[in-house]
Amino acid sequence: MIDFQNVIEEIHNDLKLTTQRGVVASYIPELAKQRNTSFGIYLKHVSGDNCHVGDWDKPFSIQSISKVLALSKAIAFEGNNIWKRVDVEPSGNPFNHLSLLELENGIPRNPLINAGAIVVADILVTHLKNPKEDFLHYVRGISGDQTIDYNLDVATSEQRTGFKNYAAANLLKSFNNLNNDVDVVLDFYFHQCALEMNCEQLANAFYLFSNRGKCVNNIQHLTLSQIKRINAIMLTCGFYDEAGEFAFEVGLPGKSGVGGGIVALLPNNFVIVTWAPGLNAKGNSLIGMQALEQFTTKTNRSIF
Ligand code: GLU
Repeated sequence: MIDFQNVIEEIHNDLKLTTQRGVVASYIPELAKQRNTSFGIYLKHVSGDNCHVGDWDKPFSIQSISKVLALSKAIAFEGNNIWKRVDVEPSGNPFNHLSLLELENGIPRNPLINAGAIVVADILVTHLKNPKEDFLHYVRGISGDQTIDYNLDVATSEQRTGFKNYAAANLLKSFNNLNNDVDVVLDFYFHQCALEMNCEQLANAFYLFSNRGKCVNNIQHLTLSQIKRINAIMLTCGFYDEAGEFAFEVGLPGKSGVGGGIVALLPNNFVIVTWAPGLNAKGNSLIGMQALEQFTTKTNRSIF
């Protein structure tokens, strides 16, 4: 039996004082307030055991990590119909890239780049009576935690500066791939990205993807086939234009966000979350990726 606590402490000790920490995102002004020294790791095993180290209990902006949670809710509503409006291929491009969208007639490459996530947001706006409240209720439910909330300052900050997302939404609308009003969909999308959670809460939220569709409260939310597909999309599309590198170095499905969080999981085994706000040139947490590479190398636990 591996002593996971010992492993994550070793990794934390090795990386916590490094001076190469990457750069905190500032294109959403509110995110620039994060301290680059923050670093936490949390691991939750499907047995229920968990271990943690560092700043695992400090809340941060989950940003793009929310795209997986939104996708899971949209799939629960639409099943396979969703794939008529968004593809499942890695983009090989940054998360907010637009030229491919135009080239491919308004069908986003995958649901984890911004344009794809905006289509998913549109689906949720169509299905949910009170989209922001109902989505929050869903996230709280799958995490078993009623304290999770949106950070409204982050949502407003992105609303003021999210010009590329407005461009993507308008482009989608011009291709008839957005059914609701651009402003309404983006208001939902910016709130979804502004969910604030700590490493433990994120590990709980993602538990169902490692536990065959059953959440921490043992409720079945998704079928095995849906879980397989969502995990496959995380593996191939979860790290912007660095998904290949993450699969190569770490070997787990996962998703990162520009708030510096990364969630990765081994189906039927565990969810591991890292948070370190400094990003590398591709927008992924620099030491978060290093920590996860060390973790799967030291434990020999990966999907390969
Ligand atoms: N809300 C951010 C955006 O749309 C999410 C980016 C990310 O975490 O990748 O730009």
